[in-house]
Amino acid sequence: MLSAGGGVLMSQVRGLVSQLCFPEVGSAGGRSIKVSPTPSLARVSPAYVLIPIQGVPTEFNNEGRDLTRETVNSHIAWKRYLASPRATVDAVVMFAVFVIALVPLASCSFEWKHHDNNELKAALDAVHEKCPTVTRVYQLMHTSIRGVPLYVIEFASNPGKHKLLVPEFKYIANMHGNEVLGRELLLKLADYLCDKFNEGDTEVQRLLELTRIHLLPSMNPDGWQVATDTGGKDYLLGRTNNNSIDLNRNFPDLDRIMFSNELGHLENNNHLLPMVDRLSQPIQPETKAVIQWIMTTPFVLSANFHGGDLVANYPYDESRSGSSTEYTRSPDDETFRNLALAYSMNHADMWDPHHEPCGIMGYNFGKQGGITNGAAWYSVPGGMQDFNYLSSNDFEITIELGCEKYPEADQLENEWERNKDAFLAYMWEVHSGIKGQVRDAVSGKPITNAIIHVRNITGNNVYDIMHDITSVHDGDYFRLLSAGDYEVTAYKDGYLPKTQPVQVINAAHTEAPRFDFELVPVPPVSLQDGYNNNLDYEAYHESIPRPNDLSKRWYQVLLKQYNNPQN
Ligand SMILES: [Zn+2]
Repeated sequence: MLSAGGGVLMSQVRGLVSQLCFPEVGSAGGRSIKVSPTPSLARVSPAYVLIPIQGVPTEFNNEGRDLTRETVNSHIAWKRYLASPRATVDAVVMFAVFVIALVPLASCSFEWKHHDNNELKAALDAVHEKCPTVTRVYQLMHTSIRGVPLYVIEFASNPGKHKLLVPEFKYIANMHGNEVLGRELLLKLADYLCDKFNEGDTEVQRLLELTRIHLLPSMNPDGWQVATDTGGKDYLLGRTNNNSIDLNRNFPDLDRIMFSNELGHLENNNHLLPMVDRLSQPIQPETKAVIQWIMTTPFVLSANFHGGDLVANYPYDESRSGSSTEYTRSPDDETFRNLALAYSMNHADMWDPHHEPCGIMGYNFGKQGGITNGAAWYSVPGGMQDFNYLSSNDFEITIELGCEKYPEADQLENEWERNKDAFLAYMWEVHSGIKGQVRDAVSGKPITNAIIHVRNITGNNVYDIMHDITSVHDGDYFRLLSAGDYEVTAYKDGYLPKTQPVQVINAAHTEAPRFDFELVPVPPVSLQDGYNNNLDYEAYHESIPRPNDLSKRWYQVLLKQYNNPQN
């Protein structure tokens, strides 16, 4: 039995634990957020420790009062209190307060609710507190228009750094502010990965050892605020950012450049951002932040969560002909279909042809395994999914999590259970295909920006996959592929290309097999030689797509457009 003071104490305890697990940050309305220090015992203000107990003095003041007399009276009261039985009871309760305060992390169970923009950061911080060695919380380079940072939590064996031959993965949610389920599920995923890691779960430990994972729970916190403030029931309110721009139409339209290159038989089929010469609308800060993130992090695989339907959607999202609905194959159509199936088939019922379509005009995607080509559903110019594929080495799909864009909080836990296996299975797909390192055969130094070209030689259906990827920071490359037989060639200016046969099996939950390339440098050719013994190389050199300069031109274009919205 607790004394009356004990009841007060327990409510204070709950407040204390809540403060430690979910420290408040920022000011009202979420317009400005200060990054709070990591929650720790130092955050416990004396108000939480010096709990007012009846009969016990809690403070002295000197506003014109007889301090000596008050001090004596207080001293007497304090002695009386110490001699009373209540002192013993309260001492026990106080001890409990400190035990709970000292082990707050054990009490930080995940709370199923719609986390506001301040609580979102606090939830990520709480995960980092529980798993400091394998996580890092950071923010993208631009905030939302209303100044809310775009927070990311990273999981890796060595957070903050790309590690040789460790593929990078990302999940993004809440790009449309009123589609909120992915936001809560990513917060839960972070909490889950951390708890499982701490529990010694071998699958999660192995996933984190082999993979660098980035989770951005909200790309559009301003839209989330609008949707939430207006009740979350409207189909469109809060969809856009604070400038009324749909962020999933705001990326540079690289599909049009790609389709134009196909028509002109140009071989540029990757890293197309430098070819952008006009934009249909100003690039928004949220979009700019994500573009910068994509261009500086060697992502291999990602997914972007939406709501309003139940399907895994894969490139291309924009139709070749301009038709509003037309199946538009990408060069990696087979691989993308398998990636989308990895999600849908591990979901509770995305794959099930018997579940009801969303709305009277809805389509039963279950009849096709819960997946769809994006443009076959409806053409989307300027979307993020295709931008990833055509501007970087990343392969992205778009996942519609369900008919309800803003489900009630009591639905969230059930939705987690329905998606949990799919979340994990899809992350493991980053280890499909092959990986390796490209090096200089003489010096042994890694070669960055080498081109990796793949020819599918499985069975009788032999064809070149006209989407090349490039080696990254340490000369390492990651090439997602479906199971089959391939010829893989590495190219780099100044080196003889090298081809090797590759068999891809894609065994579940296994690291991709490693195929390294050692390229022999070509000596400079003198014009006086009269005979060019590097003719083969030169002929090749003229025909290959060039690794692009990723740093300058595109960014100038974006800045110009952003600063001159009338353009
Ligand atoms: Zn959406």
